[in-house]
Amino acid sequence: MSDPNVLKILQDAGIDVLSCMQCGTCSGSCPSGHYTILNTRRLVRKARKNKDMLHDDDLWMCATCYNCQERCPRGIKIVDAILSIRTIAVHEGIMLPEHRAVSQFMLEYGHAVPINDATKVMREGLGLELLPETVHKYPDALEDVKTLLRSCEFDKLVKD
Ligand code: SF4
Ligand code: SF4
Repeated sequence: MSDPNVLKILQDAGIDVLSCMQCGTCSGSCPSGHYTILNTRRLVRKARKNKDMLHDDDLWMCATCYNCQERCPRGIKIVDAILSIRTIAVHEGIMLPEHRAVSQFMLEYGHAVPINDATKVMREGLGLELLPETVHKYPDALEDVKTLLRSCEFDKLVKD
């Protein structure tokens, strides 16, 4: 396995984690951190020190709500950093088993979370159509989705 220089990759992308002053505004604003181990400030500190983040479970706990990025007093693109590091991790073959599993759903059904009967009942209760405007409603488009996923080699990235 290669050893990517994450800090340099972030800097090259214009993400200035070195300007972090460790104020903790990001962690305090983080809804995921209230329910998981995610500590955004710690994650940014690791990025600053160029420590191994590819094997840090925190990396996968972010829900990409952008609260932290909107509030960071230093204007650091925190979520962009997290997404960039996730991309590096996946290309290194590192991802949570749960994400690998939902990726298989994506490849098979064109949805990370395929619809089920309970969801249909909820949709009906909300006055929505039974099926969303996706491959569920237009099953002929599923082959197109699969072709797109194969063409960007998503299937190879997420294979077991
Ligand atoms: S809010 Fe910004 S400056 Fe403060 S700890 Fe988080 S990343 Fe660093
Ligand atoms: S984008 Fe991620 S890290 Fe930032 S506040 Fe939302 S869940 Fe937390």
